[in-house]
Amino acid sequence: MKVPPFSLSKQLSDLGPDLDAAVLKVLQSGQYIGGQEVQAFEESFAQIIGVANAVSCNSGTDALVLALRALEIGPGDEVITCSFSFFATAEAISLVGARPVFVDINPANYLIDFSQIEKAITSATKAILPVHLFGCPVDMDQLMKLANEKGLKVIEDCAQASGAKWNGKSVGSWGDIGCFSFFPTKNLGAAGDGGMATTQDDGLARRMKELAVHGMPRRYLHTALGYNSRLDAIQAAVLNVKLPKLNEWIQQRKDIARRYLEALKDFPGIELPSLPDERGFHAWNQFVVRIKRFEVNNLAGAIDFRQLNLDFRNGSTSFNPRDCLKECLQQKGINTIIYYPIPIHEQPAYGEFEGIKSLPVTEKTCKQVLSLPIFPEITVEEQDYVIDTLGGLLRSANIT
Ligand SMILES: *Cc1c(COP(=O)(O)O)cnc(C)c1O
Repeated sequence: MKVPPFSLSKQLSDLGPDLDAAVLKVLQSGQYIGGQEVQAFEESFAQIIGVANAVSCNSGTDALVLALRALEIGPGDEVITCSFSFFATAEAISLVGARPVFVDINPANYLIDFSQIEKAITSATKAILPVHLFGCPVDMDQLMKLANEKGLKVIEDCAQASGAKWNGKSVGSWGDIGCFSFFPTKNLGAAGDGGMATTQDDGLARRMKELAVHGMPRRYLHTALGYNSRLDAIQAAVLNVKLPKLNEWIQQRKDIARRYLEALKDFPGIELPSLPDERGFHAWNQFVVRIKRFEVNNLAGAIDFRQLNLDFRNGSTSFNPRDCLKECLQQKGINTIIYYPIPIHEQPAYGEFEGIKSLPVTEKTCKQVLSLPIFPEITVEEQDYVIDTLGGLLRSANIT
């Protein structure tokens, strides 16, 4: 059996005719930029998130950049965020000329460590940028309380968290601005790139709208240097077809997560994702486990590890058990992904970056995490195959 990390085929067979019709309608209308589909999607998305405004743009990365620009964050300013995230989180901060200040994560849930935030605040700090990583919501009661006390803005990175909630309110409705991505593998995916910035503040919404179209409040009048960052009408049409399915898809992701949690709970050497307390509604964009130490030789008894494509760095004979397990799963047809193998602060792009300190929890986490296949259309047989194969490998290994 082969299990991919993500697949669109079933979704396409269910929604295919509706998607075909929606895309064809846009093609035949000749309205490729802006128009009814884009406006309708912005209105429905704002309603689902529970905010007054949703401003569409070309990607989740652009949504972050537009949010930072609208809040007038730039050179000389600092923004507190995590190094354990997709690169774009920090890249957006750097692209507007501000400085990302990385704090460590809570090892239990991979989210920003509240005990580190206060220590990282300086006179230059303008905002906190929490990431609802893997679809797990950050404790927004605590975060907003801290930000309000310190007079800081809040930009939520909701790229992986469409459908997640904290205390009954959707992520992206708590901070000044919420930033969403419609990259195809996200919980709500377009047929290409797309993004959205959500806000209660009409002024911020207007500024983001203008910045997304060359800083142009009216035709050929440019009041700021902006971007060309629009959501295509075709993408909006696709998203209008998919949005009504979001809740059902999140429920399916929840069911899969519950099965994995139940079936894998008694295996040593693996740490399963921890659930938020009852205030948190997890959207399960990823199911991320931690692989602890174990004897690779015993694991090799179950599989010929000499055939594995492992990386023996610097002639070292010890290698990462997570990488070994990933290779074993790959050989058995299960394609897992590592989100993320290198922390942002250790990326070459930030190599010359001054003031980077080590982030021990983040660094250790990058060496241990492995994401199991989770997407709404994964079959029960495929889930069982993942559980049995992974369970078998762990059982054959001598866990220490
Ligand atoms: C995907 C992602 C982004 C960027 O979204 P794009 O639409 O790919 O630009 C930003 N932050 C996080 C955490 C992401 O996962």
